[in-house]
Amino acid sequence: MANQNSAETHSFQTEVQQLLHLIIHSLYTKKEIFLRELISNSSDALDRLRFATLTDDTLVEDEEELRIRVSYNEKEKTVTVSDNGLGMSHDEVIENIGTIARSGTRRFMDSLSSDESNDSQLIGQFGVGFYSVFLVAKKVVLITRQAGSDPASGVRWISEGTGEYSVENITRPERGTEIVIHLKSEEKEYLDAFRLQNIISTYSDHISLPIQMLQKAKGEDGSEDDAAEPEWTAINSGSPLWTRPKKEVTDEQYQRFYSNLTYDNESPLITLHNRVEGKLDYVSLLFVPSKAPFDLWDRERRHGVSLYVRRIFIMDDTKHLMPSYLRFVRGVVDAADLPLNVSREFLQNNRDIDRIRNTLVKKILAELKRTANKAPDQYANLWKEFGKVLKEGVVEDHENKSSLAELLRFSTTKSEGGDQTVSLADYIKRMPLNQKAIYYITADSPGAARSSPHLEIFEKNNVEVLLLSDPVDEWMVNGLGEYEDKPLKSVARGELDLDELKADVADSSEDKELDTSVLDGLLEKMAESLGDRVKAVRASRRLTDSPACLVADENDMGANLERILQSMGQAAPERKPIMEINPNHPLIKQLSPEHAQLGDWAAVLFDQAALAEGAPLPEPSAYVRRVNDLLTRATLLGG
Ligand code: ADP
Ligand code: MG
Repeated sequence: MANQNSAETHSFQTEVQQLLHLIIHSLYTKKEIFLRELISNSSDALDRLRFATLTDDTLVEDEEELRIRVSYNEKEKTVTVSDNGLGMSHDEVIENIGTIARSGTRRFMDSLSSDESNDSQLIGQFGVGFYSVFLVAKKVVLITRQAGSDPASGVRWISEGTGEYSVENITRPERGTEIVIHLKSEEKEYLDAFRLQNIISTYSDHISLPIQMLQKAKGEDGSEDDAAEPEWTAINSGSPLWTRPKKEVTDEQYQRFYSNLTYDNESPLITLHNRVEGKLDYVSLLFVPSKAPFDLWDRERRHGVSLYVRRIFIMDDTKHLMPSYLRFVRGVVDAADLPLNVSREFLQNNRDIDRIRNTLVKKILAELKRTANKAPDQYANLWKEFGKVLKEGVVEDHENKSSLAELLRFSTTKSEGGDQTVSLADYIKRMPLNQKAIYYITADSPGAARSSPHLEIFEKNNVEVLLLSDPVDEWMVNGLGEYEDKPLKSVARGELDLDELKADVADSSEDKELDTSVLDGLLEKMAESLGDRVKAVRASRRLTDSPACLVADENDMGANLERILQSMGQAAPERKPIMEINPNHPLIKQLSPEHAQLGDWAAVLFDQAALAEGAPLPEPSAYVRRVNDLLTRATLLGG
């Protein structure tokens, strides 16, 4: 081997250095989790080997069973974790251990709080588990060889967790990875069989492969036989929780399984453990967390529902088992009848998988509904965490649209403090008999929605309006279309048929309205001077307090959707708003088609209407100049 014995020294990627610094200097609690992280990596490597050998049997080099071993050496002050899994090549070591390929690290750093025990939990979530070894290590020696490769292509990686690490080629007869941890002087507690076993049974009992430690055979009375040679003995129970009958599993066991799976210390809001027998045999153990994970909006997110076939791990985060709008659901599905060598392509067009997914989705939606009915407060919390994601389902999942519609919650013009607690059923229940549509307004913030001039006539007539301010809402209302035969209607689109709304509020200002011919002339002149900026100018039936507002034509895209598309870098189709003016407003009343500054007035009213919607002005300085000009004139006149 050309590189034999020539160790190269590399620097860690900057992010890794920062992370290491942080791990060593800021995370003090629960250092024991390093063992869980290394065992979890070994377990992954064994799972991946097992999966790879299904299609490539040259990877199986010997008859030895797949296992993880943990040992310690008091004299050397080392703890060693090894596995006969897939191992790593030279380049993979550098790639996987020297850099952080995923974007999670930056956010891990950003999300750190002063709550250290919480932070050390986060380490695993962010996929930076290996480095937790430096919580206890002053030096780490990792040796590894990829399964199926030449014994001469082994690799030794050494680091003290500071800025650098060294890598060299070695000869290693065994495949797989061995990690020797040289403990810091204050971490000697891990040189103890009982302590190590304890950590393993706390954090790693659910691992289905044997985790072995050296033990002397036990005599009849249960004590160790001193004369016997120690043997590798499995110390985990090795039967995954989901395979056990529901009534034999305690809440605490579910909780521990969940927190091992998700690194979430809080209890899940919902735990669903089901065995389905029949045409298709499978077990599912699913959880709805009580908090949204940090990466809920990360496109490369890896967490979700994992697929097992007869207890053998097949695949992580199988999108085929859970639609994207339920991506916050975590857990496992273990199917009895699928072939072991399933590929992603196989999953894509597999009817059994489709059937499993459909059943799981229905189960989850039913459980969410049950929670909403039985425990509205709990559901309100769930909605706060996952509502935005669930809304995507209305667009994506036609089959379950009506179940999803029942799960939606809104804040409305009649709910307090922006609380999203009103369901469509509530809305319909309390709407006046003659109201035919469900009204909503979209804006880019709850505040902008709440204070929009479009709501004036609805307020006046005591008609409730849903306040929507999530980007997904634009698609959601389109996807939904109607609920219980009541169409969803934007208050900012098309002409309003307000007769249905006019309850008992008499139009008190009718007598003083502008003369029709003056009004028509005014509208025409304003349209003329605004030119390209508007589709039309018309008299409004929506406004009571504001002088003007902008509305979309019945079939045009709304202004809010347009802004959303633009913010995503997408070209929105050319769209011009209609400006509506309030003929009863004092400002409008002092105008006439002959007014000398009509052009300025039209432009200012237009810009104000845009501002009231939260839209940016294309030329703010022109707006300011015009307003100042008009103010100056008014002051001169008044003074
Ligand atoms: P994660 O496990 O979330 O990917 P880690 O920091 O724990 O993050 O590990 C980084 C990577 O190093 C793993 O994804 C894997 O590719 C590699 N690795 C770590 N330990 C082992 C091992 N025992 N065998 C093979 N590869 C490993
Ligand atoms: Mg890991």
